[in-house]
Amino acid sequence: MPEPSLPDPSSALGAVLLPIENVATRMNRPAARLLAVSKTRSTGEVAALADAGQQAFGENYVQEALPKIEALRGRGLEWHLIGHLQSNKADLAARHFDWVQSLDRAKLVTALARHRPAGAPPLNVLVQVNIDDETSKHGCLPGDVPALAKAIEAEPSLRLRGLMAIPAPHADMTRRRDAFRAMHALFEALQAGHAGIDTLSMGMSEDFVPAIEEGATMVRIGSALFGARPAKTEGPA
Ligand SMILES: *Cc1c(COP(=O)(O)O)cnc(C)c1O
Repeated sequence: MPEPSLPDPSSALGAVLLPIENVATRMNRPAARLLAVSKTRSTGEVAALADAGQQAFGENYVQEALPKIEALRGRGLEWHLIGHLQSNKADLAARHFDWVQSLDRAKLVTALARHRPAGAPPLNVLVQVNIDDETSKHGCLPGDVPALAKAIEAEPSLRLRGLMAIPAPHADMTRRRDAFRAMHALFEALQAGHAGIDTLSMGMSEDFVPAIEEGATMVRIGSALFGARPAKTEGPA
């Protein structure tokens, strides 16, 4: 029996890409990149979305991601770590991912740099900023961004691409927009001081259109592509 809650991958992809294209046209900007968030999803589900044309996938847990990355090696997929990274997993993250979006402390800069294999392209990194979520321990403070950016730039095996945020999920969308706007201001300040800063990762299934309107260049979308996640698997990152 097919699972009725699972959308057909190519129509689910189209249903997300269409509003991304529409807002780009409306704002007269390049379309935001789509990162498909595949936490809790099987290798088969990822493969089906890849067959439909999706290239970039985001995972929250290093250990959960490794078998999928391994099984789908050779298909040209790009893997992003978007969950909290423990220092003792920096080694695995640096070896197996293409991007780490959750870099939020100096200790990770040195650990990721040290473990990126010689000969591999530089690891793309985003600094995760805790923009407004007082309940979250993850993400650096806005004032910590300049020092972290400087530390990253000093490491040839890392490539600083920009910023990532997970704003608090306020029911009031104007409060989310405030957070998106504050991130965009930080992003512009970072661009003014560093070359090659091209990625502002913010916006999820519920709020990716306002996030793009406020300046996101990459959106991270799970449930709108794959269907709702079972509630019990959404533990703390
Ligand atoms: C789960 C997750 C997403 C995607 O959330 P959806 O609401 O399913 O689109 C995006 N970013 C991060 C960091 C996540 O953990």
